Amino acid sequence: MSVVGRFAPSPTGRMHLGNVFAAMMSWLSARSAGGRWVLRIEDLDPQRSKPEYARQLEDDLHWLGLDWDEGGMEGLGENGPYLQSQRGDVYSRALDRLKETGLTYPCFCTRADIMATQAPHQSDGRIIYAGTCRPKNMPCHTEEPERKHATRICVPDIDIDFNDRLYGQQRVNLSKHCGDFVVRRGDGAWAYQLAVVVDDIAMGVNEVVRGCDLLLSSAQQIYLYNLLGKTAPAYAHVPLICNSSALRLSKRDKDLDMGCLRAKYTPEQILGRLAHIVGIIDKEEPAGAKDLIGQFAWSKIEPREKIITDII
Ligand code: GLU
Repeated sequence: MSVVGRFAPSPTGRMHLGNVFAAMMSWLSARSAGGRWVLRIEDLDPQRSKPEYARQLEDDLHWLGLDWDEGGMEGLGENGPYLQSQRGDVYSRALDRLKETGLTYPCFCTRADIMATQAPHQSDGRIIYAGTCRPKNMPCHTEEPERKHATRICVPDIDIDFNDRLYGQQRVNLSKHCGDFVVRRGDGAWAYQLAVVVDDIAMGVNEVVRGCDLLLSSAQQIYLYNLLGKTAPAYAHVPLICNSSALRLSKRDKDLDMGCLRAKYTPEQILGRLAHIVGIIDKEEPAGAKDLIGQFAWSKIEPREKIITDII
């Protein structure tokens, strides 16, 4: 089966070095296998997403030489639209299918309620929903209430096992590590977990390469694939690029965003440096995206959690 990879950025600011790294790894993995690469714009958050960021992002990818076969703002390909803000109908149909399983329920909890009832042991900052609105008997078939509500999906006390190409075999207990999660927010916005699965299915994506902050989310996503009767993609999570305080880069780290990087370096300097740091090439030297295709192999990459950057 030929590889279909993707890059699924949220256009909420300029790309930074961490986004470039994730994009490069996904692109190289797909291209080195002779596969295709899809660009999907994840503009689900209406407050933070802006079309000018999406345009900038495309310009930055062009500049880096990371080309896509499908997707983007112009909607190249048959499986569009490729902007999540235009895919509400597709999500709505998927939610109907999930409702048929009897595993969804309306949730009226406010953020404050959830914070007040969350399990105290979540050291990684994740909030595990305490199940306040979960009906006593599941599966349930509740009428759609008129009052404003989020829709949650009930997760059973089961382990999801999957293999990550870099971090190896993973086992995640859904109820312990994830809890019942939101598939549609109270304000009507579609939740990332639902949208990403529905879109990867619709776009034929069979390989997901992304930052390791999303490793745990893969379990929730595999659960949704199972409920929708589809096969989950292969996963490869990659180390996060962190700033000199060992914190993952955010859109606030302006000195490592593409605006600053483009002013100081060539694409070959940036990609060559990243490729060297992660182990794709032995010697540190400038390298264009295409030059790296033949060098790329997952076996060369060490499964570190973080890459601290005094990088560039
Ligand atoms: N849109 C997500 C982000 O920018 C990535 C989603 C994914 O790769 O699954 O963090």
